[in-house]
Amino acid sequence: MPGNSIPAIGVAPDSGRPPRSVRALSPQQLAAIHAVMRIFVEDDRERGVTADEMVDCAGCRRPRAAAGAINYGDITLCHHCALSYEVMRASGRVRNAEAFVAERSRRPAP
Ligand SMILES: [Zn+2]
Repeated sequence: MPGNSIPAIGVAPDSGRPPRSVRALSPQQLAAIHAVMRIFVEDDRERGVTADEMVDCAGCRRPRAAAGAINYGDITLCHHCALSYEVMRASGRVRNAEAFVAERSRRPAP
């Protein structure tokens, strides 16, 4: 056959979609997770956690607002990391907080 066809490298037609073992969350599931995490922030504020109280987040490895931070056993995650973790856990991408922190530590801090 005339001409050479060069196979496309690294261009998957379905790139951006999760692997098969990962469940995509519905908008309702995402909204529910966001709502729950929001309640943790509100509960902490109602219990008197002030805006300038900080925790050391194991996920982003920075001091973060204590309001909304969640303890998973020995691991403390800030509101934002806890939200990411819950979404990843619900969609089957991580099994537990340890795996989430390990996953995060492989990436540069945001
Ligand atoms: Zn964090």
